[in-house]
Amino acid sequence: MTERPFRIAMISEHASPLALAGGVDAGGQNIYVDSVARELGALGHKVDVLTRRDDPDLPEMVQMAPGVRVLHINAGPPGYVPKEELLDWMPAFAHQAQKRLIGQGAYDAIHANFFMSGWVGLVLRPVLKAPLVTTFHALGLVRREHQGAADGFPAAREAIERSLVQCSDRLIAECPQDRSDLLRLYEASPERIDMIPCGVNTRAFFPGDKVEARKRLGLSPHEFVILQLGRIVPRKGIDNVIRSMALLPSSVPSRLFVVGGESRTPDPQMTPELGRLMRLASAVGVADRMTFVGQRSRAELRDWYVAADVFVTTPWYEPFGITPLEAMACGTPVIGSNVGGICHTVRDGVTGYLVHPKNPQELARKLLDLHARPRLAQAFGQAGVERVHKHFTWERVAREFATVFERVCAKEKPLLRMHRPAVRPYALQRGML
Ligand code: UDP
Repeated sequence: MTERPFRIAMISEHASPLALAGGVDAGGQNIYVDSVARELGALGHKVDVLTRRDDPDLPEMVQMAPGVRVLHINAGPPGYVPKEELLDWMPAFAHQAQKRLIGQGAYDAIHANFFMSGWVGLVLRPVLKAPLVTTFHALGLVRREHQGAADGFPAAREAIERSLVQCSDRLIAECPQDRSDLLRLYEASPERIDMIPCGVNTRAFFPGDKVEARKRLGLSPHEFVILQLGRIVPRKGIDNVIRSMALLPSSVPSRLFVVGGESRTPDPQMTPELGRLMRLASAVGVADRMTFVGQRSRAELRDWYVAADVFVTTPWYEPFGITPLEAMACGTPVIGSNVGGICHTVRDGVTGYLVHPKNPQELARKLLDLHARPRLAQAFGQAGVERVHKHFTWERVAREFATVFERVCAKEKPLLRMHRPAVRPYALQRGML
């Protein structure tokens, strides 16, 4: 426990901690906000999570965990809005949030998640007279580098991110790559960045009996089970895993399971990327050796990780990537792209293998290696469990956050009374407030 309990306004405009992860717009950020808030609550701090109302039936407020409340903020239609279309609703979000928070007592810090919440944080900071800590989760310029014209976010994202880099009291980088992107692409000042990784819930994800897990899931005890789990979006490179399956010889009885999507039963109408992947699987001749599972709840995921012989994730880029940690926590070796957070969490040749993204040949070679050397795979799994417990638990992450809040409150709060942000928030520039 740090010196005193803090009261934090945590903003996460599109990623509610109450949402079911696995869909296009619900993944790591939802888990992160949920876990950091819960663990801060468990440490005795008070957290109010502000998230957009995306369902008319949601209550105004949900007591999510001891010390943690979720406040649903009315901004835009009370239904699903793709995150690429949410920026214009942020002035309404900031206005409603301000109305909800004023009169609720003082907050010690604002923690913004993603650039749009950061924008709201810039508006709220002088009102709440509290320092602003920003976690970007993903950076627009990095996304543009990889996605080019397919990136549907408004061009204003870059300007907002630059404002946040200049004006946030602290920036949280999730891994060394994130830190160097902030320095290289946004000219962030290094002394303003703290590095705090994502974590994993080791009470929910831990090793178990593979045979029993397979029985519960109805999987064959004899197949070499390859697991891919996460949001079904092109940048996750699931096509690369499918292509690698086509390179495995028929003497290796293998099966690829793809968990994730918008619905429990895989539905290409709801998740168009699924349709593309299904067509690819048929085209490369592996449709009969792979199964699209659909979205699964948190409680069901451990069985999937435990049942797998190997967890594979080969995105083009990855701001952090919580799924490799979940697999490692369950004692499953990981083959991941040598990018972003994955090359920080997965130790090549120790907890699994790092491979180039978009290289099915290399991935197939590593899969065959782990199939041929089960003892080595087991040792990788065990090393993964140890690594996770040492560096990547949410308890540890929350303690690191508490230290950042303590420092930012002690050192930087007095300055707030004198300085307004150097860059005027986007909506003020556009006359939206
Ligand atoms: N997830 C889930 N159910 C699913 C698919 C994914 O709960 O059907 C969770 C997964 O366990 C992980 C998160 O969604 O905790 C994905 O986070 P990650 O950081 O790996 O990727 P992101 O979504 O941030 O791109």
